Order: sequence, then structure tokens, then C-alpha cells
Amino acid sequence: MNHPIPYGRQHITDEDIAAVNDVLRSPYLTQGPKIGELEQAFANYIGSAYAVAVANGTAALHLCCMALGVGPGTRVITTPLTFSASANCVRYCGGDVFFADVSSDTVLLDPAAVRTLLESHPQGYFSGIIPVDFAGYPVDMVAFRELADEFGLWIIEDACHAPGASFVSETGTEHRAGDGSLADLAIFSFHPVKHIAAGEGGMITTNNESLYKHLLRLRTHGITNKPTEFTAPYEGEPERGGWYMELQELGYNYRLTDIQAALALSQLARADSMLDRRRELASRYDSVFAEAAEKGIPVQIIVPPDGVIHAYHLYVIQTPNRKGLYDFLRTKNILAQVHYVPVHLMPYYRNFGWKPGDFPNAETYYAHCLSLPLFPTLTNDEQDYVVDQVVTFLKAV
Ligand SMILES: *Cc1c(COP(=O)(O)O)cnc(C)c1O
Repeated sequence: MNHPIPYGRQHITDEDIAAVNDVLRSPYLTQGPKIGELEQAFANYIGSAYAVAVANGTAALHLCCMALGVGPGTRVITTPLTFSASANCVRYCGGDVFFADVSSDTVLLDPAAVRTLLESHPQGYFSGIIPVDFAGYPVDMVAFRELADEFGLWIIEDACHAPGASFVSETGTEHRAGDGSLADLAIFSFHPVKHIAAGEGGMITTNNESLYKHLLRLRTHGITNKPTEFTAPYEGEPERGGWYMELQELGYNYRLTDIQAALALSQLARADSMLDRRRELASRYDSVFAEAAEKGIPVQIIVPPDGVIHAYHLYVIQTPNRKGLYDFLRTKNILAQVHYVPVHLMPYYRNFGWKPGDFPNAETYYAHCLSLPLFPTLTNDEQDYVVDQVVTFLKAV
């Protein structure tokens, strides 16, 4: 191929561009009517009662931690196998990050490892868990809910990889990632490599009305202009008029613009078809690599069991000579990527005492993983080319 093939890429249509143009000619550029429309449409798509649009996925995580009262001394458990924002949000609020290992078959935060960590400390030691639907594989949120109820914890589901993912619980109930039925709060990102691209953008979903109202306030500085929410006494003040508003706590400017919301809305209308294409491409990869593995080619894939519906943000293979494969693919214009350097191995987190060997499953995965190109506009020809190059290299190993 004479053009580079990235591991992920946005898909922008003429309708998307027209939707953005309409906003540019409208009276509102930021936090106008498109925000409410997007929130409503996104909540419907995910299946939650409420949705709060924010500036990006990291801001979503930060506001969730604030709304749940994370502060100095608050201890929160997350996975080492994620983008660092899943842990950083706790630090923004001055809390302490703890990690537990992933399960080696799903590479998702392992509820059993979390239980061991919880049981090795007194009740009340930890406050919350941030599981991540890594690559688009939904975590077993029933197991985390049970732990949360038993140990008095809240849950923020980092569902950035998983809009449209779902699983069926033992009782036969279907749970969509971020639908508010099990986690207290869930977050999504509209970064261009994610399922829905808005340039930058994020969303928080929840079924909890009081958290929802609190998040709306935190998103705009902690200010409210709703008379029913005012708390300051009238005494000693001039008469209030329509201008009056209150800063009730310290929030941020984490607003999404209407320009971005229009783009996200337009993309959301195609979310199902884009997700279908991701799944189709993933299943084409699955069949080739399963066959290759049977022939003794050193490649391993993760295929979810029946009842688990993957959203395929990433398509990952594991192979012993990962560095060799990564370098070889670059020479062939294939920009495969590694997700992720485990968070506990980052210098910032090593400062807190985490070190190599702490989470063997996450580290073994990191040593072998490579994310191959996967995005809705990847053509079958491009994918066949990627597969040929990967198999050619691995056969020679
Ligand atoms: C992308 C991502 C984020 C952060 O989202 P931004 O919109 O880039 O801030 C957080 N967690 C995970 C797992 C992500 O993939």
C-alpha cells in the first residue's frame, strides 16, 4: 500500500460537515440547543436515564471523581491496563490510586484480584472502583456491583472503548456498557479514534438524578442559575433579578461546544452501522488468526464467549516478537499501535512505589500485544493487506 494505514481513524461525511456548518451560522457556538439534543440521543442510545456532555473523556472522569467526593485520603482501585486518564482523575482530586491485576483471558480488571485487595484491608479503606471496558470488551459489571455493595464502594465505568457493547448476566438480563443499571456513573470519549468523533468531547451517563444535577453544575464552574437551587440568604444584598446566579462550589469550565455536539450527533446517527462494520472487520481478523494459530503460527487473540457483545474499539493480537512485528509493519506503511504501557509502570506512578512485577498478567499482555488497524472505513482490501503482512512476518519467526 502506498498510503499509511493507521490503527484507528474517524469517518466524516458530508452530512457531518453540513451539521457543523449549520451550527456555525446559528446564534449559539457553545452550550446551545445541540448539547441537550446530544445528551438525549446519547442517553437513548446507551440506555441510561441521564447524560451530561463535557469537554472530553478526561474531564468526564475528573467530574465523576468530584461528584463522588474523591479528595485527599480517598483510595480508588483501577486497572493498570488502560489509558492513564482512568487513574489520573483520582489524582486530580488528591486521592490515592491503587491497581489490581487483570485476568489473563479477558485482560480486564479481575474482580477476584480486586476482592483480594479489598479483603486485605479493613472495611472502608477503599471508596471506589474504576473498571475499564478495555478494547471494547465489557467488564463483568455484575461482579463489580456485588463487590461494591459488599464493601460500600461506588463504581465509575470507563466505557470509552465500549459504546454499544453489552453482556447478558446469569439472570438473563442484558446490560449495555454505561447504561446506568450497575455502575453509578459511566464515561465516554469523542476523541477521533473512538467510536464517535467530535474532535474533542466526552459524556457521562448515569441513572442517579442527584449525581446528574451535581455534574451539570460542576461542568460550568459550580454555578447554578436555577432559582429552585439557590441557597444564599437574601439578607444584606440588593434585590435579585433575572441576572442572579450562584457559585455554590468550585467547578470547572468543562463545557462541550455546540459545534462539537453537532458533529457527535451526526455521527451518533450512524453509530450502529459503524459498529457493525467494526464487528465485521474483527470477525474477518478472527477467522484468519484462529486458523493461523491452529497451524502453529505464534499469534493469539481474545474471543469473547457467547452473550458478551464486544464493541471493538481495538483489535489486538498477542505474539512473542511484538517489537519485530511492530517495526516490520511500519516498513509496510501499517501503523499498528501498542495499547497500553501499563499505567503503574509510568514514571509518575512509579513515584508512588509501583514497579515491574506488581501486575504480571497486565505486564505479560503488554509485552505481547499489538493493535491492528480497525476503523469503519478500513476496506477489505486494506485489511487483507494487513493480514498478509502480519502472517508473512509471523511465519518467518
Ligand atoms: C480516550 C480515553 C480516555 C480519555 O478520553 P479523552 O476524550 O481523550 O480525554 C479515558 N479512558 C480511556 C480508556 C480512553 O480510551
